[in-house]
Amino acid sequence: MERNGSIENLVIVGTGCAGLTAAIYAARANLSPLVLEGREPGGQLTTTTLVENFPGFPDGIDGPQLIMNMHRQAEKFGARFRYAEVDAFEPGKNLHRLKVDGEWLEAKSVIVASGASAKWLGLPNEKGMKGHGLTSCATCDGAFYRNVPVCVVGGGDTACEEAVFLTKFASEVHLIHRRDSFRASAILAERALNHPKIKPVWNTVITEYLADEKGEMRAVKIKNVETNEESTLEVKCVFIAIGHTPNTDAFRNWLPTDKSGYLLKKQGSVTEIAGVFAAGDVVDPYYRQAVTAAGQGCMAAMDAERYLTDQE
Ligand code: NAP
Repeated sequence: MERNGSIENLVIVGTGCAGLTAAIYAARANLSPLVLEGREPGGQLTTTTLVENFPGFPDGIDGPQLIMNMHRQAEKFGARFRYAEVDAFEPGKNLHRLKVDGEWLEAKSVIVASGASAKWLGLPNEKGMKGHGLTSCATCDGAFYRNVPVCVVGGGDTACEEAVFLTKFASEVHLIHRRDSFRASAILAERALNHPKIKPVWNTVITEYLADEKGEMRAVKIKNVETNEESTLEVKCVFIAIGHTPNTDAFRNWLPTDKSGYLLKKQGSVTEIAGVFAAGDVVDPYYRQAVTAAGQGCMAAMDAERYLTDQE
């Protein structure tokens, strides 16, 4: 399918697993997609070290390397990349407009794969500790911490679920919550509270990450918010599970979202707006895996290709 002057066939917003997989499929379908790399090029995988659960890599692969490979694969088939943020979006009947670095682009179809950002505590050495015993994904990193104590921060469904998951590996799981009751659904909260390896640490916040001489997590300083009492808790990994923020700034005025801000789809990747598709963590508060995001990216590219063919 040829591009028509300055009108794009397909603009893909985001270069995480979903956006890049959509780019590979769309490029191979001759759509010559324009892929916009936003605030966090490469998405959440660029903040991970070894990825051991992406099929096809029995020895694991570094997150940034996996993203670079996908990028190269998409470019090889003709995807075009541009470092730019979408400042605004205006849907149209046949053409949608995206304001990118002050310039309006027109596109026949759009895939929103702008991801979600994990929320972090905002402690001073947080950035440097990521990948060195500080993570936001138990499914990705839990298996690296066998027979050692770890902690999970949060009191929602994710925190309780991840704490239970981590009991498969860790010697004990401290579940640190800033209040004295969980926000999680009763069943998940009970599962966590009844588990012999899970130790709830109520009314408590982490005030500092403490690294060993190699820069790996060795402990956290914690403070009881009721008594202001401070202490040190020895853990080899801190799993932050305080929620994610889907990156929907430009789109949420036009596309419906759930109460947490995730975009809602009608079916597959199809949204309420004809020609606009959504994939990956921006629509998925639940699975949030590289492989599920990649699968959704594939679906979105196929849906976009079928839509464009029908339009012709
Ligand atoms: P969430 O429900 O927003 O819970 C976030 C938790 O982190 C809350 O307990 C909150 O404390 C705490 N928190 C937030 N900011 C914090 C900070 N700066 N410092 C310390 N603690 C902080 O997020 P979630 O657990 O990721 O769940 C997101 C959505 O996915 C929910 O709708 C959930 O039901 C759904 N989900 C469902 C399942 C399932 O059904 N199996 C599994 C996972 C997620 P407060 O309680 O004090 O606000």
